[in-house]
Amino acid sequence: MTQVVMIGAGPTGLTLAMLLAKRGIAVKLIEASRSFRRIFRGEGLMPSGLAAIAQMGLSDAIEQIPHRAIDAWEFYIENRPIFRVDEPMESEGPPCTLISQPAFLEAVLEQANECKSFELIQGNAVQDLLWQGDRVSGVKLGDGRAIAADLVIGADGRNSVVRQRANLALDREAQSFDVLWFKLPTSPQFAKENVFYAILKGKEGFGAFQSSEGNFQVGWSLHKDDPLDWQQIDWAGKLASTSPDWLAAHFRQQKDAIERPLLLSVVVGRCPQWHVPGLLLLGDAAHPMSPIRAQGINMALRDAIVAANHLVPLLQQSNWAAIDAVLPRIQAEREPEIIQTQKLQQAEVAQGELIRNVPLLRHAVSRLAPFIRSRVRQSWLERQLKLRQGFAQVVLKV
Ligand SMILES: Cc1cc2nc3c(=O)[nH]c(=O)nc-3n(C[C@H](O)[C@H](O)[C@H](O)COP(=O)(O)OP(=O)(O)OC[C@H]3O[C@@H](n4cnc5c(N)ncnc54)[C@H](O)[C@@H]3O)c2cc1C
Repeated sequence: MTQVVMIGAGPTGLTLAMLLAKRGIAVKLIEASRSFRRIFRGEGLMPSGLAAIAQMGLSDAIEQIPHRAIDAWEFYIENRPIFRVDEPMESEGPPCTLISQPAFLEAVLEQANECKSFELIQGNAVQDLLWQGDRVSGVKLGDGRAIAADLVIGADGRNSVVRQRANLALDREAQSFDVLWFKLPTSPQFAKENVFYAILKGKEGFGAFQSSEGNFQVGWSLHKDDPLDWQQIDWAGKLASTSPDWLAAHFRQQKDAIERPLLLSVVVGRCPQWHVPGLLLLGDAAHPMSPIRAQGINMALRDAIVAANHLVPLLQQSNWAAIDAVLPRIQAEREPEIIQTQKLQQAEVAQGELIRNVPLLRHAVSRLAPFIRSRVRQSWLERQLKLRQGFAQVVLKV
């Protein structure tokens, strides 16, 4: 039987492993960390991602795990409300929904574990690739074990070791910011509706929302030109001084409960080539996504569906030449959507940077908000539609 070795049990690796195993293909899934409960894993799913989940037969699983729809998006500049857009954003699809990613991954794993052809090797990192001539023939684990494979799939995220060992280049986009992630208790005031707040004051800004697990989460944009020493700062005071009064009061009340922030590096880019004979990269390993407008998990799930469509019939026949020949077609089908999504994310970032860097513009937008609100809102809304639905039709066919 053809043996697939999948590296990384994030959204890409785990869902694709489950899809292949359910179709009788032998899959060994190797995950470096011992549990899915890392501090931050991203929660936002757009309608495109929710549709992918439904096609994978996982919608019921979502109902069983902590999840919560976003009710609206609200933007503030210099403490003034600029505009608000209610979900599902004048479209017919479902609202953007937050899911607990660790619980989601556990639920997918449960389904994969039902298949005899599936095996998870957890708490062991892949360190190197094995080669037979110029074809990848397996992987070497941290404990020295060698695992043979007919096809290796690298789904090991933005700092992919598989990508490096396969000598596949990553064209990085310069990023002006990383994200500092905070968790703190929520307030009954925010419980009525779950609003994603985007807040900019002076050159400082953050996004905040109530997570699927019920706490309040803040992603602070830490700019590379920021003079702050983020490890030393009084964060309750900083968050409060950047916020409108009603939110500032919450940060002050919760000052002892704000957890130490976690620095999440933002890597964005694309590999010009996602494959070598015997190996395919998918998800963030092939095209690390910006956190802007919650796209990465959605793209990961859609990569998994397209890869399954192409690979399943060939893996069932164990034909190496045909498997190698289909890898460029998987890239060709996924790449246009990734390029367009990253472009739109970049446009969102560029607009934010413009407002951040031009005080006069910031001042004008905040003062003139009552007069320009509907036009600004409409132009934002138009950009969001593709970021919600995706650019391509992705249908699970196998
Ligand atoms: C701050 C921030 C916020 C974000 N928020 C969202 C959001 O709300 N919604 C959204 O859609 N996207 C979000 N994203 C993007 C999203 O997190 C990624 O695009 C998505 O997780 C990619 O999934 P993946 O499975 O390809 O990679 P990952 O989720 O990174 O999973 C890779 C897995 O591989 C494992 N691994 C790594 N190296 C090895 C190795 N050598 N051997 C074995 N295993 C290994 C890792 O432990 C991990 O489990 C965010 C990103 C950032 C930086």
